[in-house]
Amino acid sequence: MTTTATNERTPVILWLRRDLRLQDNPALNHAAETGRPVIPVYILDEAGEGRPRGAASLWWLDKSLRALAESFAERGASLILRRGDSEAVLRTLITQTGATAVFLNRLFEPEAWARDADIAHGLKAEGIEVKGYNGSLLTRPGSVLNGSGGPYKVFTPFHRFLLATAVQPAHTTGPRDLSGAPDVASETIDDWGLHPQHPDWSRRFDWTPGETGATAELGRFVTHGLANYGKGRDMPGVPATSRLSPYLHWGEISPWRAIAAARKTAADGKVPGAEADKFVAEIGWREFSAHLLHHFPTLPTHAFRPEFDAFPWRDDDVAFAAWTRGQTGYPVVDAGMRQLWATGWMHNRVRMIVASFLIKHLLIDWRRGEAWFWDTLVDADLASNVQNWQWVAGSGADASPYFRIFNPITQGEKFDADGTYVRKWVPELRKVPDRWLHAPWTAAPETLREAGVQLGTHYPHPIVDHTEARNRALEALKTVSGRR
Ligand code: FAD
Repeated sequence: MTTTATNERTPVILWLRRDLRLQDNPALNHAAETGRPVIPVYILDEAGEGRPRGAASLWWLDKSLRALAESFAERGASLILRRGDSEAVLRTLITQTGATAVFLNRLFEPEAWARDADIAHGLKAEGIEVKGYNGSLLTRPGSVLNGSGGPYKVFTPFHRFLLATAVQPAHTTGPRDLSGAPDVASETIDDWGLHPQHPDWSRRFDWTPGETGATAELGRFVTHGLANYGKGRDMPGVPATSRLSPYLHWGEISPWRAIAAARKTAADGKVPGAEADKFVAEIGWREFSAHLLHHFPTLPTHAFRPEFDAFPWRDDDVAFAAWTRGQTGYPVVDAGMRQLWATGWMHNRVRMIVASFLIKHLLIDWRRGEAWFWDTLVDADLASNVQNWQWVAGSGADASPYFRIFNPITQGEKFDADGTYVRKWVPELRKVPDRWLHAPWTAAPETLREAGVQLGTHYPHPIVDHTEARNRALEALKTVSGRR
């Protein structure tokens, strides 16, 4: 073992990953409390955390790192950017700076967890201190266990236990002065080329990644969305949800801060307490997803209920392409898929509808849909994505039963009754009267003519008939052993 001498001028490394913020950042606070110079570093290690990042995530990361670098600069520090294998980069940095400690907020996905454990083991063996904290979840996975000491597999008791035991940390704004770190070479974010070019498909992305954007979005939500959250969160045409998912994923805001803001708004009498509770429960689903993945590492590739791995999926590239492009002929499905492509985000109700359509109407493997979401969502999150896809497929823990097949027509009529959402994302149907908007093929020819729509020319005929597809899905289900 090499021994490393430490004094008050020996720097410490702050290894940032998905904690791209200065406020409420436990690793940053603890690093600063040492009183030693802090070197913040972000390492672009494409496959280091397991699955390589999707294109929309990289778009977000590009902007988020620029914002973070500005925040550090305001406090007298330079954010160091390096690309490569995380362990190799850390070792180089340690040699270049003489740092004797690495502070980090933990990642809980199994592959990232194992990688981090290996790195910590190697560094500690050489006398480097490695300090890990939880900056992303309300409680550390592994700490929420049922009476028999195992992980919860059902949301409600998990959430009840979480609410009873999780302790909210005090809000912190982060150290004011981070100057004094040694000069270290950094790559530039422009060199990383994370922003798409040729073509730049991100022109309609309406986000402000970074801590300031997160705070603004939270402020908007508690002022304008929270009062009607319980009902409004199901209406894709109504801006009632927080849109915090990408900020939470990248750690630009702590989940505790979001919860505290919602609870305070309720405590001040501005919104009913039940609305804040509902919001906290949704953050609870994020937490449940992370805990499930931590305990069941094969969730991204295998059904939680193994009998579903024998499901007779269809290979249908034409139908899959129509789904990705928003050309299925079902307006609410197409609106969702186009919203996703245009903005990198899709409303939760519509995520459920489009996922159900792919899995049940088209009988296409949920893993293909999950991979598409992974590439196109700015909030792509391994735990939440696979948990939700398996929830819709009926193969997950505490999942919706497979036989519950969303009807894309009635879902549209119920949750987008005035057509605001469909008309925004499927403008070729904007003149179709509400009554036929969610099933335009049922309208009389003159109604369509007056609306300027010719099916098959301006907008596709449905690629499957709803009733036939539903019967086919239920037949397919019979082949899954244990479900007959
Ligand atoms: P709000 O309604 O404001 O909720 C607040 C926060 O709670 C969200 O930001 C999110 O962090 C969390 N949350 C809400 N609903 C869920 C949920 N069902 N599961 C887990 N966390 C939830 N969410 C992701 O963050 N990343 C994903 O990759 C992802 N993939 C999904 C795939 C499918 C098929 C489905 C049905 C849902 C998926 N979700 C995913 C969950 C959910 O759709 C989004 O978190 C939500 O739409 C984000 O919008 P919001 O921030 O306005 O949510």
